[in-house]
Amino acid sequence: MTNPPSSIHPVPALTQPYEEGLQAGVVRYQVCNCCGQAQTLARYACFACQATTLQWQDACGLGTVRAVTEVIRAPSEEFKALAPYTLVLVELQEGFRLMAHGQAGVRIGQRVQCTFFTLAGRTLLQCIAHDSA
Ligand SMILES: [Zn+2]
Repeated sequence: MTNPPSSIHPVPALTQPYEEGLQAGVVRYQVCNCCGQAQTLARYACFACQATTLQWQDACGLGTVRAVTEVIRAPSEEFKALAPYTLVLVELQEGFRLMAHGQAGVRIGQRVQCTFFTLAGRTLLQCIAHDSA
């Protein structure tokens, strides 16, 4: 019997819709049924009004860079192959923010789109420039 690759990084049930979204190439987020607040990081209750009636939705994957940082020393063995790399805080069009890998050279205020890559069996986000037109 073989274990699925996801067994390397057990996924808590709460974040499962988000993780499954990544594997399907879509960024998912929670929306509060009471006040309409959008949020990430899979919570049990609404960040704004504490209601527990949350539903998952698919984001369009477009957003704006709000912060950029360069990682020189990888935090773990599996990230060493990437270092140095860029991390970005992105505000998605739907109004929530998330942390992702960033294309080298992206800057604050730049429009980006989410792409996906796999590292050590995990699907991760990378935001790349969207203003290519
Ligand atoms: Zn709410």
